[in-house]
Amino acid sequence: MARMIDGKAISAQIKDELKEKVAAMKAEGVEVTLAVIQVGSDPASSVYVGNKKKACGYIGIGSLAYELPEETSEQELLDLIEELNGRKDVNGILVQLPLPKHIDEDKVIAAIHPDKDVDGFHPQSVGKLCIGQPGFVSCTPAGIIQLLKRSGIEIAGKECVVIGRSNIVGKPMALLLLRENGTVTVSHSKTENLKEVARRADILVAAVGRPKMITRDYVKEGAVVIDVGIHRNENNKLCGDVDFEDVASVCSAITPVPGGVGPMTIAMLMNNCVESVKLQAK
Ligand code: NAD
Repeated sequence: MARMIDGKAISAQIKDELKEKVAAMKAEGVEVTLAVIQVGSDPASSVYVGNKKKACGYIGIGSLAYELPEETSEQELLDLIEELNGRKDVNGILVQLPLPKHIDEDKVIAAIHPDKDVDGFHPQSVGKLCIGQPGFVSCTPAGIIQLLKRSGIEIAGKECVVIGRSNIVGKPMALLLLRENGTVTVSHSKTENLKEVARRADILVAAVGRPKMITRDYVKEGAVVIDVGIHRNENNKLCGDVDFEDVASVCSAITPVPGGVGPMTIAMLMNNCVESVKLQAK
């Protein structure tokens, strides 16, 4: 049976490290503050925003919550971002996605000052990741690198296959694995012979958005399997993109859902908030 990669424990460790850092910064008179903007009242977004506020509270990061009505115009949102960009007491700005259909998400992401882009979605942050310069990195893939490193899993020289090429998970994941000297393949909905491609992987990252799609047929014996997916099954229980029971019998290590990648995303967001203070001080 595969070893379980415990994202809950590793994220708790990271949050405790950050708590200490933030306390030390406070002792020197430096505060960290995150502004979180939610437009509308999508229940899933409200849960995510609530969890982010809770994590800020635990670590000692100040949080400013902007809960805007669904009918907020694009210009009103852009004006608020502009105001927060200019405020010295705000270090990070996060706009909870998805936004209502009448607002252009790309325009909103591009409006956030790159030094406050704690989600790592700004084109400048993505560009820096691509050319290997320091900058904010999308939290979920950054969290996966931490999961691997803190579990003692070597990335350098290994065959890494990412299934999915979204801007927030698949593509930055591939770039980060490359930065760690993995040999990286990005596969997607148009990939031919996906099972064969996936079976090349020593490290397989599933970010497909399809419940339990990845069965043992996609997994080489002894591979490490990272499951990014989050879904509710027919019994309203959480499950991932990976068929956990089936895959756990062939792989060497695996992340569960829940308790794997999910908790790491918030931990890395908190890390980005702390890092933003350093970036702004430069
Ligand atoms: P997305 O829908 O934007 O991208 C899915 C990708 O999978 C696409 O690039 C597509 O090409 C590929 N794909 C779809 N069907 C495929 C198939 N049959 N074969 C091969 N590739 C296929 O999704 P996303 O935003 O990247 O998220 C992926 C999953 O991860 C979702 O379940 C999402 O809920 C979850 N997620 C979890 C976290 C977390 O914190 N744990 C964060 C972000 C996303």
